[in-house]
Amino acid sequence: MGTFKILVLIILFISFMVFVTFFGRLPALRNTPIATLHRLIWVHFPNAVIAADERLSSGKITRSLSRLGRFLMHDRHPTIVIFFLAIMIVSEYMFLPQVWHDIGWFTKSTAAMTVAAPYILLYLACAADPGYITSQNVRYHMQLYPYDYTLFHPGRECRTCRLPKPARSKHCSICKRCVAKADHHCIFINSCVGYGNQHYFLLLLVATAVLATYGGCLGLSILASRLQTRYPVWSLWPPKEMEYGRWLSILGWGIQRNVNLGATTLLAALISPLVWGLCIYSFYLVYGGVTTNESLKWSELHEDMKDGYAFRRYLPINHRRDGAMDSGAGRWPVDPEHIILYTNDGKPPRDHPSMPGEGEWEHIRRLKDAENLYDLGFWNNLLDVFVPDYQFGALLKTDVPSVERRRLKKRRPSNV
Ligand SMILES: [Zn+2]
Ligand SMILES: [Zn+2]
Repeated sequence: MGTFKILVLIILFISFMVFVTFFGRLPALRNTPIATLHRLIWVHFPNAVIAADERLSSGKITRSLSRLGRFLMHDRHPTIVIFFLAIMIVSEYMFLPQVWHDIGWFTKSTAAMTVAAPYILLYLACAADPGYITSQNVRYHMQLYPYDYTLFHPGRECRTCRLPKPARSKHCSICKRCVAKADHHCIFINSCVGYGNQHYFLLLLVATAVLATYGGCLGLSILASRLQTRYPVWSLWPPKEMEYGRWLSILGWGIQRNVNLGATTLLAALISPLVWGLCIYSFYLVYGGVTTNESLKWSELHEDMKDGYAFRRYLPINHRRDGAMDSGAGRWPVDPEHIILYTNDGKPPRDHPSMPGEGEWEHIRRLKDAENLYDLGFWNNLLDVFVPDYQFGALLKTDVPSVERRRLKKRRPSNV
């Protein structure tokens, strides 16, 4: 029972720490205990350790630890991919031989597909070009999305790559390149998630979540049937006539008797909610028509709005477009209606002749006063992720004048 309890506690602790590490910085969880815990673990605790080490060894230990941390988190190398692969391979090596003789051909074939899918998708997500911008393809990437004049303004250049920054792109300091429709740099695939591989990444999340749930359910059902041969009244759901303590001790006994099956089943069952959480969050961002990078930008803009530093004014449909810098992305069915800028002093932006837009600047204080140009509704957002160069024009009636369409399709950012 002791080993069982320690095993459960270790897996629960690791799952919780991974959850706090991944989700603690999300704007949606700001002002929640998760964000506080994230700050405590990743800011206050390391600061306290650094201060203590400074006194004890003049900072030698923390300097080498931070070099290791930087290498693991901020350099491009496949350590975490290998770790991810090792967990899957070792778990499957421990799990499959234990259950193979107890399952029928149908379960065998679904299990084989469930096991194979994450490997194939991991390979595709790692190997695909996430949408690195080069001098050869920058024109193509400029055509993909129009500038929204809110988060992305034309005429900006990446200081490192020396190339114009297409709308929705971002320079990745780990890949050391600009990435089209940059979502985030993912250490689990040792690459950025961007326009070229976001679909593989989403499918990889689904496949991993399905694998964990499948393994957890299959393992539990086999464990239950083995336990029932000795304790016929025992069932997965604690029966009324059995005390909870006794139910748990029988389960603990069963896991110890089938330690390989028990440990991997427990691992799968406990990490399932975590992977599903990540999966649902990623699809929620697709639903909102934002990337992880943009959700952070929206959150910063929201702060500026609340502080009274954000302004907007009308952007006419035929606003001056520098052909090379803002092509208007013909495939995109919506045009921006306003230009939104923020200033450092709370005063409206100073006008100069090349400033886009017309009329007076007005203060905006709420997110709903800004439109998210990249949100075309869940299905269109999904098509944009899964179909390269998807032409929305065919879908959204090309004969409707652009000005009408943008009224028709006015969307707002999700508060993510
Ligand atoms: Zn760059
Ligand atoms: Zn990257």
